Amino acid sequence: MSSAACIFCKIVKGDIPSFKLFESEKVLAFLDIQPLSRGHALVIPKFHGVKLTDIPDEDLTEILPVAKRIAIASGAENFNILQNNGRIAHQFVDHVHFHMIPKPNETEGLG
Ligand code: 5GP
Ligand code: ZN
Repeated sequence: MSSAACIFCKIVKGDIPSFKLFESEKVLAFLDIQPLSRGHALVIPKFHGVKLTDIPDEDLTEILPVAKRIAIASGAENFNILQNNGRIAHQFVDHVHFHMIPKPNETEGLG
């Protein structure tokens, strides 16, 4: 299932370019276009759903293992995994996504 108006569905289809980190039948991971730190990644189910509660369990099972591997690959000792649902909760793209945000040491910049 996908939504014609959804930017992340367009990224899944390849209609909008992205820097892909991982892809499988159900999951895509790519770099965030406005990274909060170097390596800020998004891990999404290919299935279109706005909130976590819209996604079937079988489309979610790979998400955390992929986020974990990307966190390991980033080399970050400190990182956040975040997932926002609804505007008040700071969700601005209406396709479920998990952020993997490395927290660099204070001496490291975005670089
Ligand atoms: P939210 O606030 O909805 O949890 O986060 C949405 C994230 O998607 C933001 O960090 C934003 O930078 C990222 N984003 C929005 N549009 C695009 C895009 O077209 N490409 C990529 N790679 N990231 C995007
Ligand atoms: Zn979508």
